[in-house]
Amino acid sequence: MKINLSAPDISQADIDAVVAVLQTPRLSLGPKLPEFEEKFAALIGRKYAVAVNSGTSALHCAVRGLGIGPGDEVITSAFSFISSSNCILFEGARPIFVDIDPVDYNIDVTKIEAAVTTRTKAILPVDVFGRPARLERIEEIAARHDLKVIEDSCEALGSTYQGRPAGAFGDCAAFAFYPNKQITTGEGGLLVTDDQELARLARSLRNQGRGDGAGWLAHQRLGYNYRLSDINCALGISQLARLGEFIEKRAAVADRYNRLLADRPEVVRPAPYTEGTISWFVYVIRLADRFGRADRDAVLEALRSRGIGCNNYFTPIHLQPFYREKFGHAEGDLPVTEAVCERTIALPFHNNLCQADQQTVVQALGEALESLKT
Ligand SMILES: *Cc1c(COP(=O)(O)O)cnc(C)c1O
Repeated sequence: MKINLSAPDISQADIDAVVAVLQTPRLSLGPKLPEFEEKFAALIGRKYAVAVNSGTSALHCAVRGLGIGPGDEVITSAFSFISSSNCILFEGARPIFVDIDPVDYNIDVTKIEAAVTTRTKAILPVDVFGRPARLERIEEIAARHDLKVIEDSCEALGSTYQGRPAGAFGDCAAFAFYPNKQITTGEGGLLVTDDQELARLARSLRNQGRGDGAGWLAHQRLGYNYRLSDINCALGISQLARLGEFIEKRAAVADRYNRLLADRPEVVRPAPYTEGTISWFVYVIRLADRFGRADRDAVLEALRSRGIGCNNYFTPIHLQPFYREKFGHAEGDLPVTEAVCERTIALPFHNNLCQADQQTVVQALGEALESLKT
């Protein structure tokens, strides 16, 4: 038996949309690219959307496009997927990690101002697991210190914070469309912004540094090939039209886990979200404080041995080998982040996970927890 950690939800309409592009000569830089971008920008309520080939590329375009470079510092969270911090390294700037809130796992806004220095250029909050960070507070702090804000919304498409969509905050925001995200384009990402100059730069950076209207072989700046093909964009358009359905299905799966796990005192379920609405990305539980990393790893192992996909979301970024080496980080630097990271388990989670499979997962989890006690 196998229950996957994640799975895309591809309909016949999605397949037809991809095949239709394959029957045209415009496989890249065709009409699907602006169509996807316009629909996405309208959904988030931003003026511009620039589609690229990954969420990481979108974040890189944001950092580079905002002029962040060597000697600059960017305040961010180490409780994230690594690219929210790597994008800062790509431009020779330094990520300054601020610890997280122990309840919602987002950057602890009460600790941000103490990390601001004369070198700070931006704050890069991550809407982790689909829960928007305290974005209004972050915008306020940024305004007070004249900092840019890059919202990493790669896990939060469809979530809202105080009535505004995730991705609508700060100078710009990044989204991602790997197959485990709320919608997928296979691989893909997208930058949204209201800043015309930033959008123009991002379009140039994704397309080998070419300028608007200039020739195919005229390169105005160091750029990349971060283009997203029309094949991917067609899938994105089709998936985006199903986002409402996806959000509902995922909420139902999360609700079922919440109920199935209600009488497990060893398990801390995802905290209720009171500041807006969640579009669920993953379902991550935390083992109670009396358990440690070895217990958590034993549970992961027990689940995997039964064919149940699971993972430790996340290994903290500051403790990844090249971050330790480059910046001298060590255990103890971010106590809350580390305590959470040692105890988390992402359970199988996707649109079409059925109740029977969820019962199997919870049963196996229960047995693994029982065997820890003996
Ligand atoms: C998925 C993700 C990204 C980008 O991922 P890609 O694989 O490059 O598309 C960036 N930040 C976070 C927090 C993510 O979860």
